[in-house]
Amino acid sequence: MSLGWKLFLSYMVIVIVGASILIVTTLSIAPISFDQHMQSMESMMPSRMSMMRELEDQLNEGFYTAMLSSLLIATAAAATTALLVSVYVSYRIVQPIRALVKASQYIAAGNYNKRLAFASSDELGMLTESFNRMAASLEEIEATRQRLIGDVSHELKTPLASIQAYMEGLQDGIIEPTLETFQQIHHETSRLQRLVRDLQELSMVESGEISLNFDIYNLIDLLRSTVVWIQPQFEDKHVKLYTEFSDEKIFVRVDYDRLRQVLLNILGNALQYTDGGGQVTVRCYQHGKLARVEVQDTGVGLSEEDLERIFERFYRVDKSRARSSGGSGIGLTIARHILLAHGSDIRVESEGVGKGSLFYFDLPTV
Ligand code: ADP
Repeated sequence: MSLGWKLFLSYMVIVIVGASILIVTTLSIAPISFDQHMQSMESMMPSRMSMMRELEDQLNEGFYTAMLSSLLIATAAAATTALLVSVYVSYRIVQPIRALVKASQYIAAGNYNKRLAFASSDELGMLTESFNRMAASLEEIEATRQRLIGDVSHELKTPLASIQAYMEGLQDGIIEPTLETFQQIHHETSRLQRLVRDLQELSMVESGEISLNFDIYNLIDLLRSTVVWIQPQFEDKHVKLYTEFSDEKIFVRVDYDRLRQVLLNILGNALQYTDGGGQVTVRCYQHGKLARVEVQDTGVGLSEEDLERIFERFYRVDKSRARSSGGSGIGLTIARHILLAHGSDIRVESEGVGKGSLFYFDLPTV
């Protein structure tokens, strides 16, 4: 049964109950009251008793006829009003619901761009508003999913094509089965492995699935041990690694391993994008209730456009350079998510291409 009919029937129940109560009460109360009146008149004029009896019968009959016809007219008017009101109300309720049903079918079929106009500020308007919000976030999720599939397949394509070319060359005898050939193939498979590992990590941080083990550490100690660990790589490439740390201890509540991972990523990038002879400086100092960590390099720098995009997943400024060194453009995205989970965020500044970069973030001190 449609909503319109249900509304109409509910109004009709009220009309029928109202009319029935009216009929029952008037028909049971009115005759008693008539009788009492007539009896008092008869006692005042006993000589006119037979005339009074006749008058009472006529009055009674007239009263019942008038009563019944007015009740019939009132019930018919009420029923018509119930019909009109239910048609109007159901139209006002049913129309937006029908639009919502249609739009949700549209979305279920995979068309996420459907939106509805707000009809009112009542509950239906609120439902429409949250429907639109749901549609917008589904659209965003779908766009991200498609972008991710495109990016991942693009990333997989290059090493796979390279391995296939080597294999075909080996089979056809065009490529010699030398140690160098096998090293190249190994290099490509390592790239694939790294990519898969990064993707797993990315999906974990993006879905908020990483569990962080927060504890209180002296940030300076954490930085020092990370710098000591990565120092040999800097020496190999002849890039100087300086530290400028506050003399005071700075205590922060962090996940030690995850924060170290962020630092290694930023420092690894600084090393990768700084040519031999350049320098990288790691700073740490307290400002207000925050601890600031900075990594500044004298490397290739970043353009205005790159500054805005480097935290996007798979974004690489110089694709061939980053790819040949195994970079997948995911490291900074992961770093950002880890810092977000620490209530922080990563920022970058650069005066332009060739002018070095500065990566920094703040952590609340305890
Ligand atoms: P990748 O694994 O490719 O280094 P990241 O997410 O760590 O991925 O970095 C994304 C991109 O940001 C890099 O490909 C590089 O182009 C740019 N980038 C990162 N750090 C630096 C830096 N210190 N100097 C210049 N460019 C950088």
